[in-house]
Amino acid sequence: MSENGHDRDVFDVIIVGAGPTGLYAAFYAGMREMRTKVVEVLPEAGGQLAVLYPEKYIYDVAGYPEVLAKDLVDNLLQQIAKWDPTMCLGERAEKLVREDDGTLVLTTDVASHYAKAVVICGGIGAFRPNKLKNESLTRFEERGVYYFVQDKSIFKDKRLLIVGGGDSAVDWALNLKDIASETTLIHRREGFRAHPSSVTELMESDVNVMLHYEVREVLGDDSITGVKIFDNRSDEDTILDIDIVLMNLGFKADLGPIKDWGLALNKRYIVVNGRMETNIPGVYAAGDVCMQDGSESLNLIAVGFGEAAIAVNHAYSFITGGRVFPGHSSEMSPTAAVASNQQAK
Ligand SMILES: Cc1cc2nc3c(=O)[nH]c(=O)nc-3n(C[C@H](O)[C@H](O)[C@H](O)COP(=O)(O)OP(=O)(O)OC[C@H]3O[C@@H](n4cnc5c(N)ncnc54)[C@H](O)[C@@H]3O)c2cc1C
Repeated sequence: MSENGHDRDVFDVIIVGAGPTGLYAAFYAGMREMRTKVVEVLPEAGGQLAVLYPEKYIYDVAGYPEVLAKDLVDNLLQQIAKWDPTMCLGERAEKLVREDDGTLVLTTDVASHYAKAVVICGGIGAFRPNKLKNESLTRFEERGVYYFVQDKSIFKDKRLLIVGGGDSAVDWALNLKDIASETTLIHRREGFRAHPSSVTELMESDVNVMLHYEVREVLGDDSITGVKIFDNRSDEDTILDIDIVLMNLGFKADLGPIKDWGLALNKRYIVVNGRMETNIPGVYAAGDVCMQDGSESLNLIAVGFGEAAIAVNHAYSFITGGRVFPGHSSEMSPTAAVASNQQAK
């Protein structure tokens, strides 16, 4: 996939959000030979599946009796790779305006992007990790203290401390324990919020689990040499020999600036009609971010996939005047489509 295409180039469609809905929308847009850009605030694609439950099995995606959330994301990425959309990761969509000629301008914290149509697949909003107010954690952020796992190899043969008791903390402890040389997980109370079967697996593993402990201070100068933790019942300190810290204290999600784009909203949802059109011409929404007028929201991957196909087909019709009927993928030649997409770039 191409890296950030930051110029005045007007794409057919910009998709905001690279969760499952946004990725499937990108696939569908590629299939309709639309030049497509995906803007995602996180450094990785996958939305809730990647951030909240990468190691959990999903059982209700059509065609998969069961699939690990992270594998579904990998498969979606593989599926869109053949259309080569421009991926703008690590950019937060902040402003959307229309120019006199009808071009939609989406401004992020990094650049401005131009398109004839926009499909908002922002899910429950942009994720921000919960952080502790602790100067030593801030000092080592991104050089020993991490909130996301982008590259598992950075944990290789390191003494790892994971902080948290939810699904992400437990899943990552299980996932990284064979990569790190030693793994310790501290959690501030007895009970875990994580799935009970994962907690049982954790307790039976060789991960050193310490309950009622919290971070006092990360130690070291250029790199981390240890972490001082304290028992929150006795306030007694313990120093652990640690090289790397993964903080998993949950995430806040917030639609943020999208709420100020002049879209009709119902509580946290963008209101759409049966064509997934918002009240702004050329702007569509799909997935967890939206609710059909007069209906209930049904926040499921399967629903997002269907809505993505509806939104993109209507966006295609909006910008070309062409038919909404997409044709059948079984009758298409993906190779030819890629060639035409790349030629247009
Ligand atoms: C623990 C858990 C288990 C679940 N299990 C299932 C299950 O078994 N089956 C099922 O069908 N569903 C399940 N779900 C629900 C499912 O994950 C959601 O329905 C699905 O993720 C919605 O996909 P989405 O792409 O619409 O939104 P999200 O997955 O929320 O993705 C939205 C993306 O948009 C990005 N974004 C938001 N705002 C901006 C912005 N301003 N700029 C740039 N990017 C932005 C976000 O960072 C995110 O990556 C589960 C959810 C949870 C939390």
